[in-house]
Amino acid sequence: MIRVGVDLGGSNLRAALFTDDSATPTRVIRQPVGSQRDPDAVCSAIATVVEELTAAHIATVTVPISVGVGVAAMLCDRRGTIANAPNLGWRDIAFGPLLASKLGDRFAIGIYNDVNAIAWGEAAFGGGRGAADMLAVYVGTGIGAGLVTNGQLVEGTSSCAGELGHCKIAWGADAAPCACGSRGCVEAYAGGASIMQRIKRDLSDGLSLATVVLAGGIDAATPSHVDQAATDGDPWALELWQEMATALAVAIGNALALLNCERLVLGGGLLGRTPTLLEHVLAALEVVAPRAAMTPLTIVAAELGDDAGLVGAADLARRGVSIVGA
Ligand SMILES: [Zn+2]
Repeated sequence: MIRVGVDLGGSNLRAALFTDDSATPTRVIRQPVGSQRDPDAVCSAIATVVEELTAAHIATVTVPISVGVGVAAMLCDRRGTIANAPNLGWRDIAFGPLLASKLGDRFAIGIYNDVNAIAWGEAAFGGGRGAADMLAVYVGTGIGAGLVTNGQLVEGTSSCAGELGHCKIAWGADAAPCACGSRGCVEAYAGGASIMQRIKRDLSDGLSLATVVLAGGIDAATPSHVDQAATDGDPWALELWQEMATALAVAIGNALALLNCERLVLGGGLLGRTPTLLEHVLAALEVVAPRAAMTPLTIVAAELGDDAGLVGAADLARRGVSIVGA
């Protein structure tokens, strides 16, 4: 079945056409979101790209073509209303209806949180294949997650399910402030942005000369350098990674206690490049997560990389999940 997946980020708009049952797109268009980022202009740009991708097929299909859009945003219903998309500067936007009005009734549109689309891509075609109950956790600049229960994506009543990054691992006046406006979220401790701040601060305080030497300077230091330093046995790097791993394991372990998953998929730009941190996370999970949740669990790496969101959004729309106006 012909379907289109769209990934709308803060910088780039990507769209992929799928014409068979595989996760391999027939054609992909990628373009910058550009300076015109008001919702009307962005919806027009998406509509143009979708029409270009489907031009050769539109005359022959007898049912509306499914278009799934994953957007880096906090949604607030199942009809594509965006409460907040910080990267686009949007608040309270009827994004789904606006896009539907541009594309018309030849298309059936579903709007999804980007991490949920990515998680569904992994569930249907990647590391979560074959598992009816799956948790996918992504550690990059922030921390996101998507969950699948009984073979269905759990979007939640207002499409906000899976916000593992904003689950609390601390509370009170001393809890770390988070970008979401709250405190004590695991993302405020172990998200990539927080880790970078911590690395710069600790290295400026002279806590690890080895890491500074590996990086060629404090300002050049990244989590990859810390990972190398930890692999080499640097005490500061090992201690920092143990602290980060424990924070992640507490949040993930709590989710596993709640969900009793068959599969845990781990991915994201940070965890994918820090193998020693990943080892520490896996070891900490064994200690922190309940035995009953760990025994039936298989832990795997995310498989689909950058295409997961395109594949997932297209497949969710094809399955009729949260279609605008339906
Ligand atoms: Zn938060």
